[in-house]
Amino acid sequence: MRVLEKAPAKINLSLDVLHKREDGFHEVEMIMTTIDLADRVELVDLPYEDIRIVSHNRFVPDDQRNLAYQAAKLLKERYNIKKGISISITKTIPVAAGLAGGSSDAAATLRGLNRLWKLGLSLDELAQLGAEIGSDVAFCVYGGTALATGRGEIIQHINPPPHCWVVLAKPTIGVSTADVYKNLKVDSIKHPDVRGMVQALEAGDYDGICDLMGNVLESVTLHMHPEVANIKDQMKRFGADAVLMSGSGPTVFGLVQYESRLPRVYNGLRGFCDQVFAVRMLGDVNSLD
Ligand code: ATP
Repeated sequence: MRVLEKAPAKINLSLDVLHKREDGFHEVEMIMTTIDLADRVELVDLPYEDIRIVSHNRFVPDDQRNLAYQAAKLLKERYNIKKGISISITKTIPVAAGLAGGSSDAAATLRGLNRLWKLGLSLDELAQLGAEIGSDVAFCVYGGTALATGRGEIIQHINPPPHCWVVLAKPTIGVSTADVYKNLKVDSIKHPDVRGMVQALEAGDYDGICDLMGNVLESVTLHMHPEVANIKDQMKRFGADAVLMSGSGPTVFGLVQYESRLPRVYNGLRGFCDQVFAVRMLGDVNSLD
C-alpha cells in the first residue's frame, strides 16, 4: 500500500512572545497560515519492521533526527504497530528557513500513517500527538489559518486571509530557532497587535492585515544576519504591499494583492537571493488536498 500527502509551508503573519515559562518554552501568540509551497511525503509499507527515510536533499537528516521519522516512531509505539514504513520526502520548502518544513513533513506523516494503518484518529488527536514532536506540528496537522497560543500547540482556527500572492526570498544562511530565542530579550519586546490581526482576518481586511503584520523575532535575526534587512528593503522597493520575516527566519515574505505586480517583485528579488518563490496564499483548511 502507498499513501501520498501534501506538506505545505506556513508563514507567520504575526508572532509575539509573551514570556519564558518555567519549563523552558516561550509562551507565544502567533498567527499562522498555509501557502502554496509544499513538500510531498510518500508512505510505502516495508516487508520488515523498520522506519526508513528517503530524501535527496543533503540538508535533510535520514535518521531519527528527521521529524517525519519521529512521527512514525510515535505512532508505532503509541498504537503498538508491528509494521515497517518507508517515508520518501520530496523537499520544495527550503530547510531551516522559518517555514516549518520539517514540522509539516511530520504532520503529513501522521495524517498519512493514520490512513495507511487505519488508526481512525481525528485531526485533533493527531495534532495532540504532533505537539509531542514539536510546537509547530500541531498547526501543520490542520493547515489553514489559526491563532496558535501556549508554546504554539493550542490551535484556534480563524478566517483565511483574502486572496493574494506571497513572494518568499530565502538567503543562503540557515537560522537555528533555538539561537534566535536565546538572543531574544523578552523584557524589551515591542509587541505586535495579534488580536487586531485576528479581527482584520475575520473582517477580510487586506489593508489591515498588511498594516498589522509583526514578528518579535525579526529584530533578533536581523541583528545576527544584516543581509535579511537588505532583502526586506528590496522587497518593499520592488512593490510588495507588506514585508515580514517568517518564524525565526531567515525567509522574508511579501504580500502582493495584484497579480500584475507579481513579476516585478519576484524578478527583482532574484537578483539578491537564489531561493525565491511566488505562490498563492492558501490559508483555508482544504489546503492539504
Ligand atoms: P520552524 O519554522 O518550525 O522553526 P524551520 O522551517 O525553521 O522550522 P526546518 O526546515 O523544519 O526549519 O528544519 C530545521 C532543522 O530540522 C533542519 O536543520 C534539519 O536538520 C531538521 N529536520 C528534521 N526533519 C526535517 C525534515 N523533514 N525536513 C527538513 N529539515 C528537517
